[in-house]
Amino acid sequence: MSVLISGANGFIATHIVDTLLEAGYSVIGTVRSATKAEPLRRDFLKKYPTGKLTFEVVEDITVEGAFDGVLQNYQDVKYVLHTASPATLGLDKPLKEAYLDPALAGTLSILKSIKEHAPQVTNVVITSSFAAIFGFNKEFVTYTNKHWSPLEWDHVDNEVLAYCASKKYAEKAAWEFVEQEKPNFKISTICPPYVFGPQVFDWMAARKLNTSNELITNLIKAPQTTEFVEKPSGLFVDVRDVAKIHRLALEKEASYGTRLFIGCQTFTGQTLLNILNKNFPDKKLAVGAPEKDDPSKVFGFDIDNVIESLGGYEFIPLERSVVDTVSQYWKMTD
Ligand code: NDP
Repeated sequence: MSVLISGANGFIATHIVDTLLEAGYSVIGTVRSATKAEPLRRDFLKKYPTGKLTFEVVEDITVEGAFDGVLQNYQDVKYVLHTASPATLGLDKPLKEAYLDPALAGTLSILKSIKEHAPQVTNVVITSSFAAIFGFNKEFVTYTNKHWSPLEWDHVDNEVLAYCASKKYAEKAAWEFVEQEKPNFKISTICPPYVFGPQVFDWMAARKLNTSNELITNLIKAPQTTEFVEKPSGLFVDVRDVAKIHRLALEKEASYGTRLFIGCQTFTGQTLLNILNKNFPDKKLAVGAPEKDDPSKVFGFDIDNVIESLGGYEFIPLERSVVDTVSQYWKMTD
């Protein structure tokens, strides 16, 4: 059974490739350049000597037909996972060009190519985000997969909002595509919140980390800070769970056609500091105000229907995720 995954060199995607190879799937990953694929090919094949993994270069996902060639060459692809989208801040381009255009055009481009050239594909899973759900509400809200972010592009004036809007617009466009075009395949979307966790291979921890993991590494780089008691705050999920849920979204029929909003627990900066200080007392990190922490006030989330559609799921807890993230980070950067 072959699976095509876009953005295969990304933080989340490499974990997806890992879980797919472990489960015996043949994997075709698209990357923007061959040099991004080479170290991954080497290390995955070391880890899974009989694993079936190939990489294809798709330089610009926004070009219509960008995925045509790959889909024409691999007629045995049954499942497609679209993870490629701008996910790091600090891009040196106008906001629309940096975030909205690749997210939106990339999603539509792969869906159109599948419809036209790969009638055998049965399921497509698109990596969306909790950013497509979160409402920036001042009052307490319990979020579910029925919520949509109210953010409109006209109100975007910074990178964070541009990222959030790009995810909402891309996800909406995918659902609209299916409704209007009625393709052979079903889609589901995965809406993870902040994704923490270690990289698949240690050497990857020495690269620029994803924006979510940087919340943690920023804390350990600022040992004297008195900030972070309430900000940042949000909902977390471990990258290994995000990856497994991408695989389950292909395997569990009850989840087809669903917005898979997933998350493990809410946190504040203080929650992270408390975990770090408990587990790494010798590192003399900022202490903040441990007793004031109350992550239950951040917001609520109800994902029972999603978990049921996956046949049940136990998430990796925040403490293990944070400890694994910083242990690997220190090992590679100290
Ligand atoms: P990474 O930045 O590690 O990976 C993103 C992938 O998308 C890379 O392969 C990257 O290629 C590719 N990509 C980025 N911009 C473009 C572009 N303009 N054209 C083509 N490809 C592009 O991010 P993550 O693994 O963290 O994110 C993966 C997906 O998960 C994204 O869709 C993101 O929005 C979503 N997500 C992530 C969360 C998180 O906390 N990390 C939370 C919720 C959702 P290259 O390496 O060449 O730049």
